[in-house]
Amino acid sequence: MTAKIIDGKAFAASLREKVATEVKKVTTTTGKKPGLAVILVGEDPASEVYVRNKGKQTVECGMESFEFKMPDTISETELITKVEELNQDPTVNGILVQLPLPKHINENAVIEAISPDKDVDGFHVINTGRLVTGQNAMVPCTPLGCIILLKDTLGDLSGLNAVVLGRSNIVGKPMASLLLAENCTVTTVHSKTRNIEDICKRADILVAAIGHPRMVKADWVKEGAAIIDVGINRIEENGKSRLVGDVDFDNVVNIAGAITPVPGGVGPMTIACLLRNTLISFCRAHNLDEPAL
Ligand code: NDP
Repeated sequence: MTAKIIDGKAFAASLREKVATEVKKVTTTTGKKPGLAVILVGEDPASEVYVRNKGKQTVECGMESFEFKMPDTISETELITKVEELNQDPTVNGILVQLPLPKHINENAVIEAISPDKDVDGFHVINTGRLVTGQNAMVPCTPLGCIILLKDTLGDLSGLNAVVLGRSNIVGKPMASLLLAENCTVTTVHSKTRNIEDICKRADILVAAIGHPRMVKADWVKEGAAIIDVGINRIEENGKSRLVGDVDFDNVVNIAGAITPVPGGVGPMTIACLLRNTLISFCRAHNLDEPAL
């Protein structure tokens, strides 16, 4: 069997097009554009590339992009003051603070300073609580991208066995909540879990978000399972630097029913979902119907 390759890049492009169409409509209705503010602290090259991409795609969707670069000497109080200023700014509908932050800044304190209504990353405890209790939350972008791809690939997920590898606040935990909300039977696996292979082998849906290159092997996978590989790992191979996921793609592709590649799978969906969340935040701020995206 050779798995269907889930083309996250193409899906993300079509989602961005749909967002752009809706942005045009709400801009015509209100005379205002949705706005996304991104704060970058320090000079991490990978974060800079990511922030530049976000800004470019935000503008391409017809939204306003505001970028704030702060030195890594900025204090926690100064950063929170900037966040509070953006909370009050009516032209800003989404606020994203690029993580990780320098060690002297408490990330939780900064995230909690963001207005939950503008928390387009969905990391604020209010949004976490809303997600877990089945209320109208801002859903974190990476797991949101994963669930959209899964529903597009499999349709109804009800009753399926889902295994999530990883329990981080930004991927693993919200992913498990989203799968539970789709009526999956969910198991979360982490570094203290025993018999990981056996648990994975029972999964109809396997989401890997651990940060270990190619850890999920072909003999961990049930025949026909849907595999979502969130991992982004840079490795050196044959003298070249390349990105690989947490799944041993070349072998798992012969067992799985469907699989996301790395790159070109989950990654592009994350920014597309960020734009979607910014549009949703704008609609809520202006009492407009939320588009079903
Ligand atoms: P974290 O490091 O925050 O969490 C990793 C999780 O994996 C932890 O829960 C950890 O368990 C678990 N884990 C680590 N080692 C093992 C092991 N040997 N067996 C079982 N579980 C293990 O990572 P993130 O959730 O932030 O990211 C995970 C991956 O996804 C990374 O590669 C990251 O680059 C990628 N990523 C991709 C995104 C995208 O847009 N595509 C966005 C965000 C992340 P424990 O809790 O016990 O320590």
